[in-house]
Amino acid sequence: MSAGLAEYDLNMRPLLDLSLEALAAELATWGEPAYRARQIAEWVFRHGATDFEAMTPLPPALRARLAETFTIAPLPVIANRAADDGATTKALLDLGPTPDGRTGDAVETVRMDYDPDDDGEADRTTVCVSTQVGCAMGCRFCATGQQGFTRNLSPSEIIAQVLHFSRERRVTNLVFMGMGEPLANYASTVAAIRWLTRPEGLDLRQRGITVSTVGLVHGIDRLSREGLQIGLTISLHAPDDELRRQLIPTSAGTTIDELVEAARLYIERCGRRVTFAYALLDRVNDEPEQARALARRIRGIQAHVNLIPYNPTAGPDLRRPSRERVRAFLHELQAAGINATVRIERGVEIAAACGQLRTDVQRASMMAVDL
Ligand code: SAH
Ligand code: SF4
Repeated sequence: MSAGLAEYDLNMRPLLDLSLEALAAELATWGEPAYRARQIAEWVFRHGATDFEAMTPLPPALRARLAETFTIAPLPVIANRAADDGATTKALLDLGPTPDGRTGDAVETVRMDYDPDDDGEADRTTVCVSTQVGCAMGCRFCATGQQGFTRNLSPSEIIAQVLHFSRERRVTNLVFMGMGEPLANYASTVAAIRWLTRPEGLDLRQRGITVSTVGLVHGIDRLSREGLQIGLTISLHAPDDELRRQLIPTSAGTTIDELVEAARLYIERCGRRVTFAYALLDRVNDEPEQARALARRIRGIQAHVNLIPYNPTAGPDLRRPSRERVRAFLHELQAAGINATVRIERGVEIAAACGQLRTDVQRASMMAVDL
């Protein structure tokens, strides 16, 4: 059997869909000592092992049994693209067939290196992960939203996106801003965060992680009680409920006041600042009066506004505002005492700007491989 087929053997469970505790419990039923699960995790996360054979300190019989039961194979790369002189890299990863036999699901993940002192060595490497294939929220300005929802990713599929890059270099930061709505895939998102932050796993700093949500109030509340110190971004995009509903059709049941209250509670419980993301759309939500209205809505909480000039990926009816309009909006917010910045864009040439991953690039990449 070729390695490719072995990777897709549906009888084998992805090891990282189990928590460390669950793995330890399963190994205990095999008569293995308590430290085995940690030892295996160390091989996966520290040494980047992609098969059990590499775990030479483990007894051969155990390695064989692990290999019959679990898989730690990486997700195969369909295509890689680089931009910004290699500082931004996007990978399209093959998710393999689903248990019901559907193939062709793929997921995009992006790595961004920051080297402010320009010494050729990245001071910060951020990976942007996807949590779903497609997204059910239907945001009008989002290419993923326009594509519709296919399925949730499992914990191991989220972790695999980070491991894809962490095998090459140290990852310092992680943002959940790729395809999909992380809080609509809550269990996988939190399970992945646990592996990626625990010392036996990738050991990322919790403070280096940011989850971006379209604003699922119940999910924000749940996340605030996890005892995690991760950052939260709430995508707001409008200063009033009516416009917000137009831009995010599925947000009809949620008001901006509820989101501001959810943010306040998050800050109180987690001791972390909350960011409000605001995609700037020309003449839709970028008027100075709308900046002042936004400032009034969020005044009084420890929030930060991150303006994202619209990246025209979703359709012809929306436009990116001019630099002058972006600047004017920013200055209105700042004049009203709101801490605000404009998101620096990365990887625009490969349309891999985080959170703006587009479906036609995915198709084009796949075609390039087919040729
Ligand atoms: N579903 C989550 C996270 C993924 S999107 C969320 O909506 O927050 C990450 C960010 O990119 C969100 O703030 C989203 O509003 C923004 N975004 C999506 N498409 C965009 C586009 N075409 N231009 C600018 N920002 C966009
Ligand atoms: Fe989904 Fe976020 Fe895109 Fe909205 S912006 S459709 S929530 S991925």
